[in-house]
Amino acid sequence: MLYGEKRVEKPIRWAMVGGGLGSQIGYIHRSAALRDFSFELVAGAFDILPERGKEFGKNLHVAEDRCYPDYKTMFCEEAKREDGIQAVSIATPNGTHYEITKAALEAGLHVVCEKPLCFTIEQAEELAYLAKKQKKVVGITYGYAGHQMIEEARQLIKAGKLGDIRIVMLQFAHGFHNVAVEKNTASTKWRVNPKAAGPSYVLGDVGTHPLYLSEVMLPDMKIKRLMCSRQSFVKSREPLEDNAMTLMEYDNGAIGYVWSSCVNCGSMHGQKVRIIGEKASLEWWDERPNQLTYEVQGEPVRILERGMGYLSETALAEDRIGGGHPEGLFEAWSNLYGRFAIAMEAMDKGEKVDFWYPNVDDGVQGVRWGENCVRSADQGAVWVDYE
Ligand code: NAD
Repeated sequence: MLYGEKRVEKPIRWAMVGGGLGSQIGYIHRSAALRDFSFELVAGAFDILPERGKEFGKNLHVAEDRCYPDYKTMFCEEAKREDGIQAVSIATPNGTHYEITKAALEAGLHVVCEKPLCFTIEQAEELAYLAKKQKKVVGITYGYAGHQMIEEARQLIKAGKLGDIRIVMLQFAHGFHNVAVEKNTASTKWRVNPKAAGPSYVLGDVGTHPLYLSEVMLPDMKIKRLMCSRQSFVKSREPLEDNAMTLMEYDNGAIGYVWSSCVNCGSMHGQKVRIIGEKASLEWWDERPNQLTYEVQGEPVRILERGMGYLSETALAEDRIGGGHPEGLFEAWSNLYGRFAIAMEAMDKGEKVDFWYPNVDDGVQGVRWGENCVRSADQGAVWVDYE
């Protein structure tokens, strides 16, 4: 159980690039990082518009002289200070992640980067190499991975409750972009522009989320080959897709699919994970995150509730309120940021990090999966070996 007590010796001096006024995801980064006093927000280059970023930073109680016009100036000026930043979160559009992450690592900073880490496998591997060379954390914000019911699913599968895994059904299929909302919405506009978004839209934007959840639950299963069909139902989005179906074969003989979509009319989020084994199945849905459905063939359905004593020790370790009250996105993100902080401190001390968190290799895997999906789809939805 977490009581908000310190998890690292001293709060990590932390900055943000992006996440400014009007951004979609900036606030959740701050609320997650600042919740358990593991981080202290001391600087930022919050906005593509320097003046607006400065005003915003001041309104977050960041000292005026540490609200920078851009990330390059910030890394350079902060390096001159004895109390300079130790870590930075990058919450900017996708097309900037590679250059900012690289610059941050070169400046000797730990990084939390939004997904996707970058556009190509080559770039991703370069960043992974650099992170290891610099002995720095690169955390990726697959936010719901921090929810305790995801850890519970991992533990149930590890304990063999499902038996051998046969089928992995994944989806993140919302309906918010069923028409060309990007014409009037800045934060959607860049998502359908390949220069800013990368080689895919919904595959990277939403599909990688449940994919990572499945990797937390099934750490030993590897994709062997896949086949992807992608569509642009809103034609102006071509060549980027607003819907994609990906079929995957795993090295243990299991089969899986990921449905990535922003045109699933009427659906709010529709992020679901269903893992089916030879004896039982587990199902989790981000709109009802406190319940994990556990179905044993031939027995009544069990709904496991968050915060209850029958959950595994490691799931309950990140419980905050006990059963009954809901926990959700904010708590899951806070748990992730807690893991990032502990990993950063351990790495600085040269200690081993012996717990999972979405790390740079997971960032590489997200990019790799997207690239394989696009390769398959653009050849006409053919099976391709997973490279
Ligand atoms: P957004 O367009 O709403 O906001 C982007 C912010 O970055 C704005 O404040 C903008 O001014 C700022 N910005 C842009 N370029 C900048 C630069 N060079 N330097 C400094 N600031 C800059 O975008 P968003 O929806 O918040 O998405 C940002 C990132 O977060 C994307 O990579 C997206 O894929 C990711 N995202 C992740 C999740 C998640 O659940 N993990 C959810 C939403 C978005």
